[in-house]
Amino acid sequence: MHEFSIAEHLLGQVRGHLPPGGRLRGLSLRAGAAQAIDPEALALAWRALTEDQPERGSVLALERLPWRHACAGCGGAWTSDEALDACGACGLPSRPRGDFELTLLSMEVETDDPG
Ligand SMILES: [Zn+2]
Repeated sequence: MHEFSIAEHLLGQVRGHLPPGGRLRGLSLRAGAAQAIDPEALALAWRALTEDQPERGSVLALERLPWRHACAGCGGAWTSDEALDACGACGLPSRPRGDFELTLLSMEVETDDPG
């Protein structure tokens, strides 16, 4: 499953950034359209992966970048959540372009800091 390997990759990244004694409460991820991530599948994968781990209960927020469309007929450009779309002006099928970006944007960390 695509989403599971993404979740594993994320967990590795998170652990590389986590301060000693820090507990992960949440994280946010930005993914390009070409990653074709199913948000529900990713949330499930994250939960399964962190079930018996210190990261258990942390919340993963996903920001998906839209597809960028360009029309070969009239030169129109627009963005959409759909990979297949037609130009609103002349009706020609578009040429979609999506990013393969996968970026860990932020982490919410809790620490046991006495006092
Ligand atoms: Zn057009």
